[in-house]
Amino acid sequence: MVVTRFAPSPTGYLHIGGLRTALYSYLWARRMGGKFLLRIEDTDQKRNSVEAAQAIEEAFAWCGMEHDSEVVYQSSRMAIYQEHIQKLLDGGKAYYCYMSKEELDALREDQTARKERPKYDGRYRDFTGTPPEGIAPVVRIKAPFEGEIRFHDGVKGDMRFQAADILDDFIIARSDGTPTYNFVVAVDDALMGVNHVIRGDDHLSNTPKQIIIYEALGFDVPKFFHVPMILNASGKKLSKRDGATDVMEYPKMGYLKEALLNFLVRLGWSHGDQEIFSMEEMRTLFDPNTINASASAFNAQKLDWLNAHYIKTLPHEALVKELKRFDVDVSAHPQQILLIDALRERAKTLVELAAGVRTIIEAPKAYDEKAVSKFMSPETLELLELFCAAIQTQEEPTCVEDFEGVAKTLLEAHGVGLGKLAQPIRISLVGSAVSPSVFHVMAVLGQEESVARMKRFIT
Ligand code: GLU
Repeated sequence: MVVTRFAPSPTGYLHIGGLRTALYSYLWARRMGGKFLLRIEDTDQKRNSVEAAQAIEEAFAWCGMEHDSEVVYQSSRMAIYQEHIQKLLDGGKAYYCYMSKEELDALREDQTARKERPKYDGRYRDFTGTPPEGIAPVVRIKAPFEGEIRFHDGVKGDMRFQAADILDDFIIARSDGTPTYNFVVAVDDALMGVNHVIRGDDHLSNTPKQIIIYEALGFDVPKFFHVPMILNASGKKLSKRDGATDVMEYPKMGYLKEALLNFLVRLGWSHGDQEIFSMEEMRTLFDPNTINASASAFNAQKLDWLNAHYIKTLPHEALVKELKRFDVDVSAHPQQILLIDALRERAKTLVELAAGVRTIIEAPKAYDEKAVSKFMSPETLELLELFCAAIQTQEEPTCVEDFEGVAKTLLEAHGVGLGKLAQPIRISLVGSAVSPSVFHVMAVLGQEESVARMKRFIT
């Protein structure tokens, strides 16, 4: 069974790049009928916070990416790590290193003078004497000094690392007994049964070390997929300056999770030239083996385009529910479908949609001066008065065509075009020259309210 995981360090908010690797891991597990696990890597007490861990879970909840099993917190697994360190010590695969700071400095100096890479030289590997006093030892793993570490990466292809270039007997437990980063990642992935590791390629250089740990402990090495970074439009690493990097900024800015997830799945993966993917399609089509090996650039217009698509196509009730987050509740409005349909065609975000709803349902408090001076004249005011009076005498006009019909008759009788009347009506109804079709707006407001607003403007 395929088991994937997302393993964030809770140092702040959930980054958009993190969400993408989480999504990839989630989708792959779902497609394969496997499991998707969430592990919070919170062993660095100085940099981690409970709030950050909560923020990650909140972001997950917003996206609707459910994980299997309880969330695993590394901070609660110290005893497990100790046990595995002991196992390696007992099996002769790791050892205590009593190197003092002076010894280490001397070694570094020596290596620098010889223009060598600073590297531990294995001097305590076979140490059997009496441990020096006053030194709290670290634990080092026995790593190969030569040869190659090889693995096949599902994204990058065959990887080969020269042991001599990148490895030494690296530390797996510090002098205070705490395990190091690579050690806990490898132990957890193995014990949690993770066999497909999908993560950012900033972790590629950790992989050989983790492989050494897997092998020393007799665990199977998982399959790795290292996903290239997300870049900005100028090809640099995505940063806050390029837009929001905190996932939870997106709902605040009025993006739908459907749009963000669709956007992220395409950022580095494709399926023919298909752009729109429902969650269901993603779950049946996504394959990490076809992730793009080169980095992709964040394209804000593409995200807007997708968001507009999902705003247009989301079921009415779902959209009404989303709007409540922006303090707009149309669930009791008699013309709510007409209202939303009139606006959703053009909105790029829920913020825009909510603002559009407000301009229609709340009577204008003021009238845009520029629009008034541009569109109002004695002639157009008179037309508006006539139109208002004509609407008033109608017997219950309700639909768009009813209001449109009244306008047509009036305009024909006066031999003028709709241009002369539409903007004056619009200004009187919503206070500005921007809104969906005025007849739509009138059908939403109804006869009484439309007439009241027009009269208020005229007088
Ligand atoms: N905790 C690491 C991070 O947040 C990820 C570790 C991994 O995926 O192996 O970058």
